[in-house]
Amino acid sequence: MQKPFGAPINEIVNILVVEDERKMAQALQDGLEADGYTVRVAYTGEEGFYLIQAQAFDLAILDVMLPGHDGFEILATLRRRGVRTPVLLLTSRDAVEDRVRGLDLGADDYLVKPFAFPELLARIRMLLRRGQPVSSARLKLADLEMDLAQRLVVRAGQKLDLTAREFDLLEYFFSNNGRVVSREMLARDVWKETARQTPLDNVIDAQMVRLRRKVDGQSEHRLLHTVRGVGFVLREGNET
Ligand code: CA
Repeated sequence: MQKPFGAPINEIVNILVVEDERKMAQALQDGLEADGYTVRVAYTGEEGFYLIQAQAFDLAILDVMLPGHDGFEILATLRRRGVRTPVLLLTSRDAVEDRVRGLDLGADDYLVKPFAFPELLARIRMLLRRGQPVSSARLKLADLEMDLAQRLVVRAGQKLDLTAREFDLLEYFFSNNGRVVSREMLARDVWKETARQTPLDNVIDAQMVRLRRKVDGQSEHRLLHTVRGVGFVLREGNET
């Protein structure tokens, strides 16, 4: 399972920085690492977009002004796909419409350049504290909702009748925040199989068919997707 946000000190907190200006990116990396964070830098929006879907980051710092797909576009696409990693936007202008647009698109906070580094660190701490642990009570993607406390799953207002295993599977997909989950991960984390056995792939596939029938069977918008050769993903939209 993914570790909760706002994890205690000594736990690794992974931060992704998406910033095309090398000096700025380096300054961010140095400053954050000095404060104990583990930092990965992406210099283009495309690379950042790829990394944030492929890896478990606790937070992403996303510069709005990027060549190609800018920070707004990247943020919008991530949120559309159900990726919930907290995002702090860096804007160069203190334009109200930029801030409003960023927050509307699903940013968790923003900071106007130039900023004082201690302020950035304070914002980061706040976002990490605010982030909900994945095991918290309610999870939601489009019209699919999970209440972990009551072990209740609802799609478009209709209660779904899931087995305990199906419930655990769905929770696992939610905890992966729109990232692709491999059969190996499912075997290890949901079935708790440490020794990999080929027959389990068939069990997992059969289970996925049943889960998908229940989750997506009555809806024209599929949320559980197969990613050929890789695994499965819970997200909105058809493309992978
Ligand atoms: Ca920039």
